[in-house]
Amino acid sequence: MTAGASPGGTGAAGAAGSPAGPAGGAAAAPDGDLIAAVRREVCALHAELVRNNLVAWTSGNVSARVPGAGLMVIKPSGVSYDDLTPESMVVCDLSGRRTDGRLSPSSDTAAHAYVYRHMPAVGGVVHTHSTYATAWAARGEPIPCVLTMIADEFGGEIPVGPFALIGDDSIGQGIVETLRTSRSPAVLMRNHGPFTVGKDARAAVKAAVLVEDVARTVHIAHQLGELPALRREDIDRLHHRYQNVYGQR
Ligand SMILES: [Zn+2]
Repeated sequence: MTAGASPGGTGAAGAAGSPAGPAGGAAAAPDGDLIAAVRREVCALHAELVRNNLVAWTSGNVSARVPGAGLMVIKPSGVSYDDLTPESMVVCDLSGRRTDGRLSPSSDTAAHAYVYRHMPAVGGVVHTHSTYATAWAARGEPIPCVLTMIADEFGGEIPVGPFALIGDDSIGQGIVETLRTSRSPAVLMRNHGPFTVGKDARAAVKAAVLVEDVARTVHIAHQLGELPALRREDIDRLHHRYQNVYGQR
């Protein structure tokens, strides 16, 4: 998951990341308009966590890098998704310290900030405890690459990261160390749940939705017996096509 780990760019953070959404592209100064746009984007994306049944109570969070500003915008801690507004989002520096906003940032802010500090191509980070992906994390078992859509989006198996306690940089370190040796934009942190990254926050949300979807499907298939893996060569071809050809260009 380092820039350049995949020749075609990864699903998460291709080095050539094209501008996407209000948070993309421009290396502008952190003017009010830019931060306001990122606040709106991050607020709106939390609704996708709810719509896709990825979260219980207040347990998931989305953040986005403010391009060129050394800042990130993240969910406030412990606030219901229905009550989120762009103004309630919290602006932090990349050490995780709040620089703007009235509320305390998510308790996962340190992990998000660590990822932004160490993975410059990442523009968005998402964390949930979505049921099936978290069940794989509880088992400490990577999701094998047995479907074309896993090859497309994740470029191989979806890896497991180390067990880490909240409170310091352990979670962030575990995420970065695991993703650096993978093309996957998702890591299943052991006994915890999935963290996903993307070139922007929307891409990270997409990865969070898809990791839950494939975790569910592969779990069901797994009940019925052995799962034949895709060939490496086919995984590479599928991943390259999906990352470089598929969709609107
Ligand atoms: Zn968590």
